[in-house]
Amino acid sequence: MRIIGLTGGIGSGKSTVSNLFKAHGIPVVDADVVARDVLKNGTGGWKKVVAAFGEDILLPNGEVDRPKLGRFVFSNPEKRQLLNRLLAPYISSGIFLEVLKLWMKGCKIIVLDVPLLFEAKMDKWTKPIIVVWVYLETQLHRLMTRDGTTEEDAKSRINAQMSLDIKRARADIVLDNTGSLADLNENFQKVLVQVMKPLTWTEFALS
Ligand code: ATP
Repeated sequence: MRIIGLTGGIGSGKSTVSNLFKAHGIPVVDADVVARDVLKNGTGGWKKVVAAFGEDILLPNGEVDRPKLGRFVFSNPEKRQLLNRLLAPYISSGIFLEVLKLWMKGCKIIVLDVPLLFEAKMDKWTKPIIVVWVYLETQLHRLMTRDGTTEEDAKSRINAQMSLDIKRARADIVLDNTGSLADLNENFQKVLVQVMKPLTWTEFALS
């Protein structure tokens, strides 16, 4: 099974591209969905997080108050690292399980949409790696429009991540999303042809 890696920066357009793959019948494993699942009430991830951060981060119904937890760890790098360390094993095994399910269904090509593909060292699972790239100004503008946040807030969220230019340098394929949605669709069609091509023996040996 070929596992295509899809990553990029916050608000660079990963979900938009992931929807294009789905529209072409290519299944996508979305790490954000898995990350939400591992925090569901009573799960192992939920228990670890409550033990580490206390019941203050829970809503009255017992669910983790994600925005509150997000604000808390965002302003505290040590707590952010702790949260990542606690959840990483649950997220990677959750992703692995989703991939396994698709493999058992006989899927030959799937997409792994993981915002932190490089940071979580999941890049070695995937080939080719597509990085959805935009100019910083465009990324900032789209983030502010989508989330209704201030420029300062959007900038600090972008700056908290690995630079998009570093990710771009590590990509096998750079999908430029600076233009309109029609431009993206056009760029996507070219990428689709590229990723659907059968691997040569050399690529296969090196993958
Ligand atoms: P996140 O990391 O926060 O999950 P993302 O990388 O998945 O973000 P999207 O949600 O796909 O990014 O895109 C960010 C915003 O930009 C969305 O509101 C989306 O509709 C918009 N957008 C994406 N691509 C384009 C485009 N080419 N032209 C205009 N708007 C776009």
